[in-house]
Amino acid sequence: MDIEFVRSRFVKHFDGNEGNIYASPGRINLIGEHTDYNGGFVFPGAVDKGIMAEMRPNGTESTVRAYSIDLKDRVDFDLNDPNGPKASWARYIYGISLEMKKLGVPVKGYNIAFAGDVPLGAGMSSSAAMESCFACGLNDLFGDNKVSKWDMVLAGQATEHNYCGVNCGIMDQFASVFGKAGCLMRLDCRSREFEYFPFNPVGYKLVLLDSVVKHELAGSPYNDRRNSCENVVKHIAAKHPEGKFETLRDCTWEQLEEVKDEVGAEDYSRAKFVLGEKDRVLAVCDALNAGDYETVGQKMYETHYGLSKEYEVSCEELDYLNDIAKENGVTGSRIMGGGFGGCTINLVKEELYDKFITDAKAKFAAKYGHEPKVYDVVIGDGSRKIC
Ligand code: ADP
Ligand code: MG
Repeated sequence: MDIEFVRSRFVKHFDGNEGNIYASPGRINLIGEHTDYNGGFVFPGAVDKGIMAEMRPNGTESTVRAYSIDLKDRVDFDLNDPNGPKASWARYIYGISLEMKKLGVPVKGYNIAFAGDVPLGAGMSSSAAMESCFACGLNDLFGDNKVSKWDMVLAGQATEHNYCGVNCGIMDQFASVFGKAGCLMRLDCRSREFEYFPFNPVGYKLVLLDSVVKHELAGSPYNDRRNSCENVVKHIAAKHPEGKFETLRDCTWEQLEEVKDEVGAEDYSRAKFVLGEKDRVLAVCDALNAGDYETVGQKMYETHYGLSKEYEVSCEELDYLNDIAKENGVTGSRIMGGGFGGCTINLVKEELYDKFITDAKAKFAAKYGHEPKVYDVVIGDGSRKIC
């Protein structure tokens, strides 16, 4: 992202005055999928792509003048308007402004222009990048930077819940706010404790292959998976009245086996994935500490297998990309995100990279009529004021 580009648009579009510039990244998740609502761990890192915004108080009490540089769209709204703007991109600005006000920041009228380079629809969370970028700016411009990082994470999440209709967890906003170049973060979604893990895979590259497909499925596959997990917990809790079982995080392999017959094959297999994923995240921590990227990769393949065969959230195109990775000797590959489309994340030795990408493009295009998109991943810094 280019500071001069954003500045030139801001100055040209508004009254010629310069504001402050803030930036926040999108994110990847190395491992730990469908674990957040099961009280488990995720393993995200911020990327070097994100949202950049220039912002400046405009002297009004409550008029926000917002310009999306990428969409060439201008929306003005009043912070006191209970409905807020209709444009979906402007709702993030409206929502985060009100959430920051709730945290005690006396937000007044301001001008904002922003642009981004997070690929849309690839699962790198452009929306969290927006929320955390604007939160960082509002905190700086109006709040003396008194709002804590965690409160900004939660304000971003609340924006999605209350103004954008997305009932998300905290991983995306967490990664965008707390990200650090060269580090991944293990986040405990229950306690919110986290730890930085240096990620410095010399000789390897991390690359996303975007299938550019998104399957709209009948019913509600996401809630359906959640229900399966809750059902297994309920059965285990009934067998162990002395214990405290909130989520699958609290359940052991032995306890899962005890309820195998009563919960049925489908719920059993889904719970098996979640317990396995919990173990895999911890195994990846050990492997990263030891600099053992072969084991990291092995765990990524195991996660893909589990998401595909046990949790059943893969699709033909993602399984095909995973197969191509295996054929090319790629160290690790798996679905990234909720599934049913989107990206695979791949850990590949540098010397195999070119052949893998060429092969994946050719084979995928021959079968599905279009090439996957390719995004090299560099682990970057979290939300910050640029100037
Ligand atoms: P993601 O997985 O990328 O977060 P979402 O659907 O949650 O996908 O958020 C994407 C939405 O965020 C877009 O529809 C748009 O409203 C907004 N958005 C993201 N990036 C930009 C941008 N560069 N300019 C304008 N709006 C953006
Ligand atoms: Mg989003």
